[in-house]
Amino acid sequence: MTTTAPDSAVREFCETCERATRHAVRIELRVESPDADNPGCSREPYRVSRCLVCETTDARRMSDA
Ligand SMILES: [Zn+2]
Repeated sequence: MTTTAPDSAVREFCETCERATRHAVRIELRVESPDADNPGCSREPYRVSRCLVCETTDARRMSDA
């Protein structure tokens, strides 16, 4: 198990670099539907990781476990 350290560099596999590189990872709250018909538009936490080598950003919804 690894401990989660927000906003710090972690080692992850980058598909663009095709190797494990350092990524800056952070959690972002994103609004799902900007012009929503439903007033209670949901904000979902996303895990955003950015490769520090090629700047590729990958965001995935944390609730999609
Ligand atoms: Zn990369």
